[in-house]
Amino acid sequence: MTDVADAERLISERMPTLRSRSVALADAVDAVLQEDIHAERDQPPFDRVTMDGIALAYSDWERGVRAFEVVGTQAAGAAALSLGGNGRCIEIMTGAMLPEGADCVIPVERISRTRSEAQVDNSAEVSPGQFVHPRGSDRKAGGVLLRPGTRLGPPEIAVLASAGRGTIRAAELPLVAVVSTGDELVDVDEPLADYQIRSSNDRAMEASLIRHSVARVTRSYLKDERGKMLDAIRLLHDQNDVLILSGGVSMGKYDFVPSVLEELKVELVFHRIEKRPGRPMWFGQSRDSKPIFALPGNPVSTMVCLHRYVLPALQQMLGLQPASVERVTLAFEIEFAADLTYFLPAVISWTPTGVGMAEPRPTNTSGDLVGLAGTDGFVELPRGRDVYPAGTAVRLFRW
Ligand code: AMP
Ligand code: MG
Repeated sequence: MTDVADAERLISERMPTLRSRSVALADAVDAVLQEDIHAERDQPPFDRVTMDGIALAYSDWERGVRAFEVVGTQAAGAAALSLGGNGRCIEIMTGAMLPEGADCVIPVERISRTRSEAQVDNSAEVSPGQFVHPRGSDRKAGGVLLRPGTRLGPPEIAVLASAGRGTIRAAELPLVAVVSTGDELVDVDEPLADYQIRSSNDRAMEASLIRHSVARVTRSYLKDERGKMLDAIRLLHDQNDVLILSGGVSMGKYDFVPSVLEELKVELVFHRIEKRPGRPMWFGQSRDSKPIFALPGNPVSTMVCLHRYVLPALQQMLGLQPASVERVTLAFEIEFAADLTYFLPAVISWTPTGVGMAEPRPTNTSGDLVGLAGTDGFVELPRGRDVYPAGTAVRLFRW
């Protein structure tokens, strides 16, 4: 049997990298960037005024000038005017370019105006450069704004817009086939007999893959019939980048998945991990280097395996920078005697001082999919101990 860290490494070593595609900015939310993005110009591109008021030369203020001749008005979006002499100012708006000869701004609240003159309050405090956001102070032209592997959220989309990038290169989402196996399974809107159950793993997995923006998903259903399963998996393999199967990987007489995959010459990398739930997980790599995950069918096992192994693998495939590990604190003691890593669904709440507390919500067996509803994810209790006291720091995996 393989332990959790080895399983993670063995998968990681076998993940291919993906093609990139051109994406319009409007479609780029949650895409993974695959190129460096450079500043189109200095950022900001000119000395940008940050207050409505008057722009003037600090040297005038220092000489004791308090009444300034208003020689013009400059709005955002206009070319810079020039002071053109001493004792002058320009009425200025937020977002305007600093006028030539000016080097500071006094806000409108500190000024009383006649038509041609601006009188500054004695209480005003003035310093050189005040209320000016200097050209190039955020980034110089050509500087790197974003790196490959960045997941594009709202701030990154703003950076792309400001850099004049209407299209970008992003990772192409892999085609992932989610394959449910089992004679007992019936889809959500089909009639069903007493001895059948509705398939839910495929829906849960599809939801995760969409929520985490890691795949383009298709679902399919296979009966526990060796020959048909073999043909169907061969076809799905040819049409997709990754296969995620659920069910049929244990020791039962009709658990055909491992032997079918081996017959299809998929290299077995590991079968069984020292953990609960989800011990019978199977992982292999096809001759075309495509990863194939075969997860146990019990719904809690399926979801734990998907989130613990498959999602990080797909994120790696997309070239994403690894996410930082999230840790929370066990709210109460947990006992677990078996020498296996233990994954436990949990609800997370926050103490007033900002500590994330995990309240474990054990399910009634790994078949209890209803028990997962309302949980935030699961925590990992590493093997090698029986008691995990309240206050233990544990790793959290969110749904
Ligand atoms: P298996 O891994 O095939 O032995 O299945 C273990 C348990 O999970 C059985 O009770 C199955 O009925 C159940 N199961 C398998 N596949 C699914 C599925 N797609 N949706 C819900 N339950 C499933
Ligand atoms: Mg089965």
